[in-house]
Amino acid sequence: MYDVVIIGGGPAGLSAALYLARAKVKAVLLEKSGYGGQIALTQKVKNYPGIYEISGKDLADSIHEQGERYGGEFSFEVAKEIIDENDKKIVITDKRKIECRAIIIATGAAPKKAGFEGEEEFIGKGVSYCATCDGRFFEKKEVFVVGAGYSACQESIFLAQFASKVNLIVRKNELSCSGAIVKELNDNSKIQVFYNSKIEKVSGNDFVQRVGIIKSEAEYNEETIGDIEYENNNKNTKEFEDNEGYGVFVFVGYEPESKIAPKSVKRDENNYIYVDDDKKTSVNGIYAVGDVTHKKIRQVITSASDGVVAAKIIETILLK
Ligand SMILES: Cc1cc2nc3c(=O)[nH]c(=O)nc-3n(C[C@H](O)[C@H](O)[C@H](O)COP(=O)(O)OP(=O)(O)OC[C@H]3O[C@@H](n4cnc5c(N)ncnc54)[C@H](O)[C@@H]3O)c2cc1C
Repeated sequence: MYDVVIIGGGPAGLSAALYLARAKVKAVLLEKSGYGGQIALTQKVKNYPGIYEISGKDLADSIHEQGERYGGEFSFEVAKEIIDENDKKIVITDKRKIECRAIIIATGAAPKKAGFEGEEEFIGKGVSYCATCDGRFFEKKEVFVVGAGYSACQESIFLAQFASKVNLIVRKNELSCSGAIVKELNDNSKIQVFYNSKIEKVSGNDFVQRVGIIKSEAEYNEETIGDIEYENNNKNTKEFEDNEGYGVFVFVGYEPESKIAPKSVKRDENNYIYVDDDKKTSVNGIYAVGDVTHKKIRQVITSASDGVVAAKIIETILLK
């Protein structure tokens, strides 16, 4: 029987695993795809204290390696279900049944869909949620980025390195990222921002060849959107067409991957898991850390910190 099963190998789970390994607690971390979770999707992390700049994947790999060096156990497995038998918990994976005394849910979050027509149909055929993974397919091509937050802005700058042009489609009339990033966007001649706009539809034969944008319901007073004139008949829509194809990158937020938690684990109205200061959920012996939890700031450092808190609290309880 394990002391702890950690589900998820993003910054939160990896940090918990590192601390538990150093404390010689018998723990295993289960990861379904690749270490790093969301941060592995970004090319540059520039705000992790003590490291000026690093790729998300390198940062994740080095936390993983650090954990392995201390004897941590890691396994590529998909956790499918948690069974709570009070003092004993069982994690059912795609490979086996694992018994343990405590569980740390560190399953993070997954990208939300923007909701335009053709979005699902063209995933992998132009529509993407990861610039690092797919950006290079659009070398010298025009791309669209949907969103207004940190990820949308940062990834627009990244995509501008390869794409011939980046059209950033923003629903409201402002961006919600830091001033430094807004300046970088504005200084980049390849990036054009379409405010008060949204993608209505994408279409094409085998891949996205047409993108229709439309004025969003957000308030606007002018006939122009940013400095772009909507030139269609009704002045509300604009069609882009290129047989070579477009990339459409969506960064409109995330949904928690909290399905694995038993129903008795309390969540907020958006399904983020409630935890206390010790990262305990409403169910004894089940902890949750990182982006899957109800919190205000979702970053690598806050996720790593959550993982550490849960690991240290569990260690203290187990040592009693
Ligand atoms: C494009 C982008 C850029 C970002 N840039 C920055 C940045 O520069 N700086 C910064 O601080 N933050 C950044 N962030 C935010 C940061 O990546 C997240 O806050 C952080 O990764 C959350 O860590 P986590 O471990 O809680 O969850 P996640 O990173 O989401 O990791 C969860 C992991 O759990 C695994 N998993 C899920 N379900 C299961 C299951 N059933 N079984 C097994 N494994 C499972 C997933 O595969 C994943 O690896 C960025 C995010 C994105 C998307």
